[in-house]
Amino acid sequence: MAAKSFDMIVIGAGPGGYVAAIRGAQLGLNVAIVEREHMGGICLNWGCIPTKALLRSSEVFHLMERAKDYGLKADNIGYDLDAVVKRSRGVANQLSGGIGHLMKKNKITTIMGEATIPAKGKVSVKTDKGTEELTAKNIIVATGARARELPGLEADGDLVWTYKHALTPKRMPKKLLVIGSGAIGIEFASFYNTLGCDTTVVEVMDRILPVEDAEISAFAKKQFVKQGMKIMEKTMVKQLERGKGKVTAHIEANGKVEKVEFDTVISAVGIVGNVEGLGLEELGVKIDRTHVIVDEYCRTGVEGVYAIGDIAGAPWLAHKASHEGVVVAELIAGQKDVHPVRPEAIAGCTYCHPQVASVGFTEEKAKEAGYKIKVGRFPFIGNGKAIALGESEGMVKTIFDEKTGELLGAHMVGAEVTELIQGYVVGRALETTEEDLMNTVFPHPTLSEMMHESVLDAYGRAIHF
Ligand SMILES: Cc1cc2nc3c(=O)[nH]c(=O)nc-3n(C[C@H](O)[C@H](O)[C@H](O)COP(=O)(O)OP(=O)(O)OC[C@H]3O[C@@H](n4cnc5c(N)ncnc54)[C@H](O)[C@@H]3O)c2cc1C
Repeated sequence: MAAKSFDMIVIGAGPGGYVAAIRGAQLGLNVAIVEREHMGGICLNWGCIPTKALLRSSEVFHLMERAKDYGLKADNIGYDLDAVVKRSRGVANQLSGGIGHLMKKNKITTIMGEATIPAKGKVSVKTDKGTEELTAKNIIVATGARARELPGLEADGDLVWTYKHALTPKRMPKKLLVIGSGAIGIEFASFYNTLGCDTTVVEVMDRILPVEDAEISAFAKKQFVKQGMKIMEKTMVKQLERGKGKVTAHIEANGKVEKVEFDTVISAVGIVGNVEGLGLEELGVKIDRTHVIVDEYCRTGVEGVYAIGDIAGAPWLAHKASHEGVVVAELIAGQKDVHPVRPEAIAGCTYCHPQVASVGFTEEKAKEAGYKIKVGRFPFIGNGKAIALGESEGMVKTIFDEKTGELLGAHMVGAEVTELIQGYVVGRALETTEEDLMNTVFPHPTLSEMMHESVLDAYGRAIHF
């Protein structure tokens, strides 16, 4: 059979791949997308979306437990774990199905199968029915990533879980160890801890949420500890001894090893890119450990081969993947003035309780980069809406370049901050200065007023604190 020909072939239908495909189709390209498992990738099926559905259940549970604070009555509060998981899976399936419709609507050829790139301009797809050969001048590799497995700490699905097992628990852990306190580890720790599981988090770095501003990490830690979580920093899990229904973790801190028993362990020690088996190295594509090396336009250095999303390195976030998809599709379609990808302008959000969100330089990184800075802070307790919501724990921190007034970074912890951070992202994208932000009118009563107050505070002008 003759090879089918396209202008652009996308391998992987995660938030990187499917967005690239849609943007390409919008610009008049004849596009094919190849997916081996599930439309929507990790994000919709095993990542962003199902975790947020689980966390919503634990958030509502937490609010019900606090019903009295709001003058309400709720007795015998409980949960049905199967129903919580069923809801999360339902949300994931609904969105994954929606991607199929979007492909059809945009007249994108969808091929379910495993793709390889046997040569430049060629893609071979193993499907249920045999092998399909495709050709295109441009190939976008968007094959994503999977959980990192450390020797001795490998998941078995029974006692030791990856995020996939943690999203579909068959039982509620009683005593849980979470290894790793990045966004994924902390979100699961928060979910299980809120539902009453005795939860310990072990982090090898000197603080939890290590990429966040140190003050925000410390604030979040205090809140988690208040909620009953145990947090062990500068600590390492050396070994897991698996027994019947229990795991003994060998936990090392300050050169001493302590043995602690758990019934469940979640390993959240990072991810590795899906670089294998595609034929990338044979094509001359450069790979650093498990990530493809790309430039600011996601070009691999091999003509006609691009890499986007998790496979193209940090930050490992869905919105970064989608943005890169748009950039590459526009480049391929010959658009003028395509914006390069600026990872430092991409916000990170963690949907634990309290939520954490940030963009740009932390205080430490700004100083390291040689900036003289002005720092503003505003606590949730000074905000009327936060108090009315019963969410008075949190803070908003802003960092400015003292010389130019440029907003270098913004860091938040507290209720709904994952929805608020975009205000600062827009500000940074428009190269906003302190003056613009101070002269902007923020609606009252909203949590967003704290974003204004934090800026005012950096210049000694905060009103409500
Ligand atoms: C538990 C968890 C929670 C997360 N929460 C968030 C969050 O709240 N916010 C956020 O921004 N990010 C979150 N992430 C990260 C986010 O899921 C990823 O950054 C995002 O999915 C990356 O998109 P991608 O398109 O690069 O890859 P993926 O979503 O991984 O998609 C890649 C696709 O390629 C397919 N594929 C791979 N190899 C082949 C092949 N050879 N042939 C055909 N198809 C192939 C895979 O089946 C997959 O569907 C979370 C991740 C996890 C694990």
